[in-house]
Amino acid sequence: MIYDVIVIGGGPSGLSATIYSSRAKLKTLLIEKNACGGQLLMIDSIDNYPGFNEGIGGFDFAVKLERQARDFNAELIYDEVVSIEYNCFFKRVITKNSLYETKTIIIATGTFIRKMNVPGESEFIGKGVSFCAICDAPFYRDKNVLVIGGGDSAIQEAVYLSRFAKRITVIHRRNNLKAMKIFQERIALCQNISVLYNSVVKEILGKDFVEKVVVTNIKTHEDKCLSADGVFVFIGLIPNTLFLPSAILDEANYIITDENMNTSIFGIFACGDIRKKRLRQIVTAISDGAQAAISAQNYVEAQKS
Ligand SMILES: Cc1cc2nc3c(=O)[nH]c(=O)nc-3n(C[C@H](O)[C@H](O)[C@H](O)COP(=O)(O)OP(=O)(O)OC[C@H]3O[C@@H](n4cnc5c(N)ncnc54)[C@H](O)[C@@H]3O)c2cc1C
Repeated sequence: MIYDVIVIGGGPSGLSATIYSSRAKLKTLLIEKNACGGQLLMIDSIDNYPGFNEGIGGFDFAVKLERQARDFNAELIYDEVVSIEYNCFFKRVITKNSLYETKTIIIATGTFIRKMNVPGESEFIGKGVSFCAICDAPFYRDKNVLVIGGGDSAIQEAVYLSRFAKRITVIHRRNNLKAMKIFQERIALCQNISVLYNSVVKEILGKDFVEKVVVTNIKTHEDKCLSADGVFVFIGLIPNTLFLPSAILDEANYIITDENMNTSIFGIFACGDIRKKRLRQIVTAISDGAQAAISAQNYVEAQKS
């Protein structure tokens, strides 16, 4: 079986590429390692996607995209891609369990959340340390939690957690929040959220679960020990490009493409957050996916003639 297009990653960009590609009657396979939706599954309510003026839940939106892809007869499998080969007649996508051949590849593997790499962080994952408020917030009803970070994701997640937790302290290394004004306005309305500026986490302590967090003020170098039942970390993103050739990446390991989503390798395209670009949002991911699919279609048709 030779596919026309293999899409790697089932977030919004990969699902959009799959919808456009399968709708164009290209034989399309989508490979996703976890669950379709990607980062959408971490969003409580999306209120900046055009057309949904009352907002839409990230999970609901992911289900709709996946259903649309399946309705156009795209094939979906759950597996992790570990490498690609492109110096042969057909390109190869190698997963943990199998090998697939294809005329084109669309890479849509997005990003994952950066860790703080402090003592206690890895040890307490699932025991008080979390990277997803939507997934874990209900476990922290009436408890004290820390949110680490000051960007859009951190502040969105803090606002979401405020519906459950008793008290939320945002720990941010700078002296002002990086998040968009609209998120800063929302946080200001939540009476149970406070922000500790110029601060970083030094260590997470506890017996079986998180109990305390040592925080250092980077200006005074003083340490403070805060009681906490949970620590939610949102300090940035790392691109999922480990399995790719370094020749197509920039210095921060994002994929370099042109405006038509072509990488420097003929017949390999990239879309969404994985690309080197300025605005990483659902609307740009979906637009990239559509463009990548059309470029793949042009490539397949050019090879035929
Ligand atoms: C908490 C939070 C809130 C956000 N809120 C908003 C918002 O309100 N509005 C907005 O527009 N944007 C928001 N974003 C950003 C938005 O979610 C992303 O821009 C968007 O999801 C990027 O889509 P993507 O398809 O490029 O990547 P992703 O959503 O990251 O999807 C990538 C997919 O690839 C899969 N994958 C990775 N590696 C492999 C592999 N080797 N093999 C197979 N599959 C693989 C992953 O499992 C994942 O499903 C938010 C993000 C977060 C984290």
